[in-house]
Amino acid sequence: MNTSTNWDGTMIIGTLLIAIIYSIACLKLTGRVAAEKGYDRGSWEFAGLFLGILALIAVAGLPLNTNQVKNNNTEPSIDYTRKFCQNCGKTINSITHICDDCKE
Ligand SMILES: [Zn+2]
Repeated sequence: MNTSTNWDGTMIIGTLLIAIIYSIACLKLTGRVAAEKGYDRGSWEFAGLFLGILALIAVAGLPLNTNQVKNNNTEPSIDYTRKFCQNCGKTINSITHICDDCKE
């Protein structure tokens, strides 16, 4: 029965694929929920990979990590004081636009 053997192989590959997709989905979702709540994304993605839906339920039940959320909400600070000189490539003051070496 060749068809039976082929079907078994397809079943195994299919089940493996579903298991991999499920693991990745849990990993991504758990990591995203964790990050949104202010927890370490990497650690929770790891938990999601091995615990699957359980990790997602666990992270969904967690309270907000307010300290981290506060930090995440602060806008990324852009360093306006750093700029590079077009002549020598050294770091110069972007407000004065004067390079210490070139005096330009
Ligand atoms: Zn310069």
